[in-house]
Amino acid sequence: MDEAAFPCRSGSVLFTMKWSLKLGRLWGIDVYLHVTFLLFLSWVGYATYAAMGVGAALSILFLIVSLFSCVLLHEYGHALTARRYGIGTADITLLPIGGVARLERMPSNPKQELLVAVAGPAVNVVIAAVIGIILLFRGDPIPRQPANLLEGGILWNLLRMNLVMIVFNMLPAFPMDGGRVLRAALAMRMPFAKATRTAANIGQGMAVIFVLLGLLYGHFMLLFIAFFVWIGASNEAEDAEESSLLSGLRVRDAMVTDYRRLTPDDTAQNTVQLILQGWQADFPVVSDGEYVGIVTRQDVVTALEAGNPLQPVANFMRIDALHCGPEDDLDAALQTLRSSHLPLLPVLGEGRLIGLLTSENILEALMFRRALSQRIAPPPLPVTA
Ligand SMILES: [Zn+2]
Repeated sequence: MDEAAFPCRSGSVLFTMKWSLKLGRLWGIDVYLHVTFLLFLSWVGYATYAAMGVGAALSILFLIVSLFSCVLLHEYGHALTARRYGIGTADITLLPIGGVARLERMPSNPKQELLVAVAGPAVNVVIAAVIGIILLFRGDPIPRQPANLLEGGILWNLLRMNLVMIVFNMLPAFPMDGGRVLRAALAMRMPFAKATRTAANIGQGMAVIFVLLGLLYGHFMLLFIAFFVWIGASNEAEDAEESSLLSGLRVRDAMVTDYRRLTPDDTAQNTVQLILQGWQADFPVVSDGEYVGIVTRQDVVTALEAGNPLQPVANFMRIDALHCGPEDDLDAALQTLRSSHLPLLPVLGEGRLIGLLTSENILEALMFRRALSQRIAPPPLPVTA
């Protein structure tokens, strides 16, 4: 096991956390264990047992569980600091490569982002200090070469691994905490998008160095980390560019106003015809001019699978879908749309439906904004005397 493999990707979700078992709930946040973690534990446990016997296997497993308790506390460092700024955490998942705290969002204030990012490694600093003091009082001799995990005792190994976690997580590259710290520090002096671009470039530069070092020393893990760092940097740069292009735009600037609507009495079968004949796949439902809900293509499929094509949409429409207002910030509405996992967000003005917000339309608005921002300035007019 290589202890340099504990990237912490708080704030960004690289993959969905399926196949996870709930461990419990601590400080109001659910903690999950990914099944690959159990496979990893069984594999390490069995391999150690086969090579060195049951005592060694138990020591190794105890060490890994202690180490991941430190990883968990690190994630709580991020989550509980974010909570101070009113940002919730959906859950924390432990994977063999580290922990992921799924924060609802990162704070947009650079100082707060810096504190949330630093809080994780700060927890490891505290843990390392406590272990250091215990070892000092015990007066243990410093092991010369902790070549294998059992040599030098559990505490020495835990101390060493916490120090590695601090250094590794503070590398100034996304998706590590250090990347966010760097971006936040830059954002105090320059616009957010430029700060992100600069931080992402530095991160990708580091990924290239990791690849070179990995190839030079035959260290496979460095190539793996370089891959995560490269992807993390591109994602952050894209998100930041998107936010900066959307800044200043309102929902009304990008909402669809030409669309078909259903009434609660329309049937699943009618809806299928509308979907097949037109461009629209998801519909708002309006009754006597009042907005009452939405029906997505998936809802129609589910209704058909349930067996009755003549049932009215009132039976299966979503009445509790999120919505937004025409004057809302477009970037914020996009975040709401994404977190709702729905294809559209109804735009309501005084309870009445006045438009629809879809990801495609926002992407189109982005495309036009990007084209306008990149257009070449016309040559200056010749000055006539
Ligand atoms: Zn972290």
